[in-house]
Amino acid sequence: MKTNHFISPKYYIIDNMKALITGISGQDGYFLSRLLFKKGYEIHGVIRRNSSMSNGTLALLPEEIRKNIIIHYGDLTDAGFFAKLLGQEKPEELYHLAAQSFVGYSFQNPASTYDVNISGTLNIVNAVKDYSPSTKMYFAATSEMFGQPENTPQNEETPLKPRSPYAVSKLAGYWTTKTYREAYDLFISNGILFNHESEVRGPEFVTRKISLNVAKIVHGSKEPLELGNLNARKDWGYAKDYVYGMWQMLQQARSDDFILGTGELHTVREFVGEAFKVAGINITWEGRDINEIGKSDDGKIFVRVNKKFFRPLESDNYLADYNKAKRDLKWEPTTKFHDLVRIMVKSDVENSVL
Ligand code: NDP
Ligand code: GDP
Repeated sequence: MKTNHFISPKYYIIDNMKALITGISGQDGYFLSRLLFKKGYEIHGVIRRNSSMSNGTLALLPEEIRKNIIIHYGDLTDAGFFAKLLGQEKPEELYHLAAQSFVGYSFQNPASTYDVNISGTLNIVNAVKDYSPSTKMYFAATSEMFGQPENTPQNEETPLKPRSPYAVSKLAGYWTTKTYREAYDLFISNGILFNHESEVRGPEFVTRKISLNVAKIVHGSKEPLELGNLNARKDWGYAKDYVYGMWQMLQQARSDDFILGTGELHTVREFVGEAFKVAGINITWEGRDINEIGKSDDGKIFVRVNKKFFRPLESDNYLADYNKAKRDLKWEPTTKFHDLVRIMVKSDVENSVL
């Protein structure tokens, strides 16, 4: 029998609860580990072996947390591994975060994206159904499933029309979890999460690419930052807020689907301007399209456009209507655009060297 010790309605410590996190070495795995550790969970994480034995964001966790995480080596595409793991551990909660998560890469490698994101998710839900049906599961769905949405803002009822192999794969995962939820009476909640970023975001995502390059420039680099579509608009939030929403979804009496976002839209160009501003550099824009450049007041070119970073299909205009999460989970983002940019740039300026 598990015991809950209530300290306050919002933050309570839970003893003897076991959580399994796939994708623990990614951005969200980092913040979720910190949250669950604070709440007293026994944390199990799945990571895949790589030749350098680097453990991604796990290496960035405080030692006190890292040494308490129980690691299982395995790959999403290995059905037998997950069957055995779920049968052995029977966690109270499972956060399925692992994925090929980069949209740009999914256009170059759609097949492996489908293998990992679709078959991988099927492996997980099959293992839950057959070996641990009382586990409460979270699935990491995405605003990318909306494609180029006709209605703004988007809520849980907005039609899903994906426009990238990544988005197609996540839609398949989303419908798989919904089907299993109904067919087998499983507790699986889907978070339809809008872009969320942080100081541990993967370096190829545009926000971190910008903050890392601003830091390099602060430390003396003369290389301009090269980007693709500066007009792309996103609803960017802070990952730490979003993992709290994931956890809240699994504390509900019933499983459901929830949108998490900020309800604010900003362009890549605005993110760049704001990031340089944090570093004390004012950027003005000249030229158009592929010839657009961003210059500092003393005439240095700090930003260029490179067509190699454009995508075959762009999906933007995502704006979250997170009223359902606000109403049912009492969830709200606490960190908005300006603070997010400041957190990311300050961290990279402090931690990076040329
Ligand atoms: P990351 O890319 O930072 O992390 C992905 C994780 O999945 C990594 O730990 C990675 O391991 C692991 N992984 C990838 N392939 C496999 C595999 N074959 N077997 C086992 N593990 C694998 O993503 P985020 O943390 O940002 O996102 C978490 C989830 O949320 C993802 O599913 C993502 O698609 C989804 N999402 C993210 C959003 C965002 O804005 N961040 C928005 C909406 C949804 P390794 O370290 O070895 O690469
Ligand atoms: P995504 O929303 O999950 O695809 O996250 P990204 O951070 O990869 O991309 C966010 C937006 O930034 C997309 O609309 C991209 O087209 C746009 N973008 C513009 N330039 C770049 C770039 O150089 N790299 C990346 N990754 N995205 C870029």
